[in-house]
Amino acid sequence: MGEWPTPGPSRKREGRFMKIAFIGLGNMGGGMAANLVKEGHEVHAFDLSAEALARARANGCAAYTSVREAVQGAEAVVSMLPNGKIVESVYSAEVIGQAPESALLLDCSTIDVDTARSVEGEAAAAGYAMVDAPVSGGIAAANAGTLTFMVGGTAEAFARAEPILAAMGKAVIHAGASGAGQAAKICNNMILGATMIATCEAFALAEKLGLDLQTFYDISSKASGQSWSMTSYCPVPGVGPASPADNGYQGGFAAALMLKDLKLAMEAAASVGAKVPMGARAEELYEAFSAAGNGGTDFSGIIKTL
Ligand code: NAD
Repeated sequence: MGEWPTPGPSRKREGRFMKIAFIGLGNMGGGMAANLVKEGHEVHAFDLSAEALARARANGCAAYTSVREAVQGAEAVVSMLPNGKIVESVYSAEVIGQAPESALLLDCSTIDVDTARSVEGEAAAAGYAMVDAPVSGGIAAANAGTLTFMVGGTAEAFARAEPILAAMGKAVIHAGASGAGQAAKICNNMILGATMIATCEAFALAEKLGLDLQTFYDISSKASGQSWSMTSYCPVPGVGPASPADNGYQGGFAAALMLKDLKLAMEAAASVGAKVPMGARAEELYEAFSAAGNGGTDFSGIIKTL
């Protein structure tokens, strides 16, 4: 039996409440699991970290001492884990064959397309429906339940996954077959990495050319240089909407995570022979930025090196 918090999970909304196992309750998974509890679901949590598990329990999840125990009797299994190797070993050894075959498996971690497809293949061979459902949006969106999910899997699996994911996000989009969610995620983040660097270098050049940075923002944000990196996440302190730049480049999306996603994009590009010169350069620059001790800095902090 799991260890239940006191009082038990709240039942805020009418609807069909499910028994959901949640594996990996770190920075992202912690808030996501809490939102499933708020919707009224019964969440059975497991994390290797006692601290993460204690936080989950405080948020209304039942804490379990292993993945195998957490998935017993589950109608769905959601995972939010650091990388593909861990996802593969958790599903192969502790979810597939342990969770009921009727359980829907949802991996929300950001991992490589090939591993996502092979884990989903293994799950399908054992009779499970599975989707890859990586997210866009950081820790704040995970806590607020405003993530965007990009989902790969069959139409039937997507239809089952959608209401579960909707409890944790503002948008749930079917990207295509197995692995398509991961493909969409890394292509999106490859644009983000490259446009953030381009935006940073444009501001740095504008300053050296004697332009007032607010004036340059006012012009470019309404001209063809406009991008999300500029108008939603401006890398210049005091310019544009509030962003990590206004907070000394703390919080937000860590450069190490951007580097992880760019590496996944480069691997995927190599596997299909795609030419990605801008993505490759962005990867080199984030590699150097992280190697210089900035891995924990928000990714827009790369402007300091330009
Ligand atoms: P995190 O390191 O904070 O959380 C991962 C959790 O998994 C940790 O609590 C860890 O103890 C647990 N874990 C590791 N191995 C385990 C195992 N074998 N069994 C059970 N638990 C295990 O990482 P995070 O920031 O929450 O990111 C999770 C995933 O989400 C990653 O794939 C990341 O790329 C992706 N992501 C993160 C962000 C972000 O802003 N942090 C944004 C989008 C996507």
